[in-house]
This record gives sequence, structure tokens and C-alpha cells, in this order.
Amino acid sequence: MEQLHKFFNRFGKSTKIKLLKLTCCVFLVQTGLLLIGVTCFRYASFRPEPYPALQRLVNHVDRFLWSRFHLDSISVELDGDDVIGYLPSTSKVASDDVTLDFCDPSAAKLVGALMFPLPPTPPPSYDVISKNNLQVTPGGSYRPPKCRARFKVAVIVPFRDRENHLKHLLSHLHPILQRQQIEYTIYVIGQVHGSLFNRAILMNIGFAQALLEDDYDCYIFHDVDLLLENDQCTYHCPKISDHERSNPRHLSMSVDKFHYGTMSYDLGLCSPIPYEATKMEVFGGVSVFTKEQFLSVNGFSNLYWGWGAEDDDLFLRTWRRGYKIDRSETEKCTYRMIAHSHDGENPMSAMRYLLLKQSLQRQNRDGLSNLRYRVVSKTQVRLFTNITVDVGGPTPKLLKLMQKMKKNFGSDRLFSCFDALLWLYHQLAEDLTPEMNG
Ligand code: UDP
Ligand code: MN
Repeated sequence: MEQLHKFFNRFGKSTKIKLLKLTCCVFLVQTGLLLIGVTCFRYASFRPEPYPALQRLVNHVDRFLWSRFHLDSISVELDGDDVIGYLPSTSKVASDDVTLDFCDPSAAKLVGALMFPLPPTPPPSYDVISKNNLQVTPGGSYRPPKCRARFKVAVIVPFRDRENHLKHLLSHLHPILQRQQIEYTIYVIGQVHGSLFNRAILMNIGFAQALLEDDYDCYIFHDVDLLLENDQCTYHCPKISDHERSNPRHLSMSVDKFHYGTMSYDLGLCSPIPYEATKMEVFGGVSVFTKEQFLSVNGFSNLYWGWGAEDDDLFLRTWRRGYKIDRSETEKCTYRMIAHSHDGENPMSAMRYLLLKQSLQRQNRDGLSNLRYRVVSKTQVRLFTNITVDVGGPTPKLLKLMQKMKKNFGSDRLFSCFDALLWLYHQLAEDLTPEMNG
């Protein structure tokens, strides 16, 4: 420092001013250069907004691919003769005990917020659950003994290899529904091994099978791993008011796994409907339909092999039929999802965005109207009606595509619609080239 001082003292005053000016100039030039450099770098690395390009691609795909790729054929049909499961043409008539008065909702002995054990605490055994639910009759049915239930409900649970979850659910749900004075039966629809899981088709089968058995006021489609946190969220049916028709209900809006957030999202160009018209809202987990509502949307699509988007598809169908999802009473309906890893035989669906894009075109011909399945076994065990079904599976071509997709996207289930679209376009364009050229 001292040396620097001595160095400057050697110069006269005017020289010092000149030096100072020079230093300032150098500094300014340097800063200027730096700014120019940064601007150039940013400009060079600027990517044009991909939107117009993607829009062109989507238009192209719409015209040449989505409309030509026949998604009706992504499933392997079951062999003809012994397929017994179609939608029944008539359902049973009500077997209500009309001599009793309707139950008084204010007399329901609800608890409110519920405490319950979750894994790693093991669930109680079926024996223990049965002993705790002595009024439940074989097949997993119950009706209030002293009054006439206001709602008769079929609870439909899609199932494979989640025995512990099922025990937790049964042990949790049976007492809740009894306290809520609901007449109900729990149907567990299990899919045999050997093909990818298809949650949606199991729901359709549950509906068809329940129709065969009784005249329910409504159907609750219920994932096996969702446990209600408060019994004031009642599993009642959609209510019909005088001037409005009733709407399907969605109960599992707030799930701990998703931090109890309301989830709606924009599929952008992959959506078959304009976002302004309706946000895509989560519709999975637990939903409630009357028979008329479920019939009028033609149930779920049967084509969603593997994980994802079958619930979005149902949302689109429901929207298309003019329903608004009823979430008016769902503040009380919060759920815990039993933690689980991804099921090996339920990999993310490679086709889900394509299927969604064509969802509304297929609505009338894909669903309850073309449901086919084989009942492998049907038993009325103490706590539920156990129906195991064979539903066929995806075509080998789709399976291959799923494997490729897994390699490409890893285990990330929430890759964007654009990414999936581009990838599928690349994969499928090859297949379709001759057709396109022709
Ligand atoms: N499921 C099943 N076995 C499987 C895959 C799924 O029983 O191998 C059923 C189960 O009822 C589950 C539902 O399908 O709750 C939805 O699947 P998952 O829980 O994997 O989806 P999430 O909503 O957790 O992403
Ligand atoms: Mn789950």
C-alpha cells in the first residue's frame, strides 16, 4: 500500500488527474464490453418459443396420426364363447324394507376426525375385522337394522396384490358406513395376473356386477389405498334437486400425498377440449355416480392399460354429457393414501395422451357398451363380494411400446404431454408412413 502511495506521489497533480481519467475510461470500457458480452451470450442461447412449431406438429399429428391410429385395437380380445360379462339389460328391483321409517341423519353417531393406524402398523386380520363388524353379512353387505337407509350404495374397489391395503380399507370403511346409516355392499374386483393392470375396466365390471345383484342408488368407485380422515364426509349419493339434474361427486380432492391440494391442470395442446371451457381436474381416487349418470357417460374407457389418465378420461366424458363435478361437500373429505411403490404390472401408460386426445370421439363405442370379461371366480366372503376377472390385455405391440417408453422416460410418471407427444409421434410415424403415403 505504502509503495503504491510513493508511486503516485512521483507524479504531478495534472498527471494524477490524467491517470484518474484513464482509469475511469478503462473501467467504463470494460463494463461496456462485459455488458455487450452478456447480451450477446443471452441472445445466442435464446431459443424461439416452441409453441408455434408445436402447434403445427399437433395439427399435423391430428390430421395424420391421431385420427388414423385406431386406438380401439390396442387391447387383445378375450376368446369368444365363454365371455359371460356384458352389461345386463335389466337390473334387479329394489328390495327395500318399506315398513321402516327413513333413518334420521341427525341420529347418526358420527365421530368426526378419525385416528387410525397406518403401515408400518400391520392391518388387523380378516377375522378381527369381521368380529368388529358383526352386523355385516356375507358379501360385505349391511343395512341399518332399525331404520330405512336413505341411500343404497355399491362400493367398487379395483384390486390386485394389495392385500394389506384391502384389510386396512375394510377395517376402516365398514364402521364408517355403518355409522353413516348407509345400506351398502363392498365389491372387490380383482384382475388375474398375466396382463397389465386396468383400473378402469375393473370399475366398469364392478358396476355391471352390482347391477346384476341389486338396485343401488349409486356406485362409489374407490381406490383400495384411500382412507377417509373424517366420517362427517358422508358416502351419500348425488342428490337430485327439483330444477337441476344431479351431478357425479368427487370425494378424494384432498389427499395427504398431494399435500391436500386441489389439483387442476392444463393439458394444453393435448387436451381435446379448450382449457377455458373447463380445467382438467383430478377425478381419480373416490368418485360417486348414480346408475343413470354412469350409463349416460358410458362408464370408463376400457383401453387404459397401465397407470394414468383413465380418471381424466372419465372427467372428459362426464363434462361432455353436461355434468359438473359436485365437490360442494368435500371440505370434510380429506384422505390418507397408504404409501406404496409403483406396481410392476401397472407401468405408466404409453398411450395415455393419445387416448385422452381421442377420448370424446370414442365415448359412445368404448366403455360399458362394449364391456367384455370373464368371471374367473365370484364368492361372498364375510367382508366383501370377491369377484376375480380376466379382462384380456394390451396387444404385444403396445407392450413393446411401453417397454421402450420406460427406457426413454425412466420411472418419471409425470413427464409432460408435449414430451410424450413428440416421443409417440416419433415411434408411431414409422408405422403409419405407408398408410400416410397411401
Ligand atoms: N391397484 C391395485 N393393484 C395394482 C395397481 C393398482 O389394486 O397393482 C388399484 C388400487 O385400488 C389402487 C388403484 O388401483 O388404489 C390406483 O392405483 P395406484 O394406487 O397405483 O395409483 P395412484 O393414484 O396412487 O397413482
Ligand atoms: Mn395409490
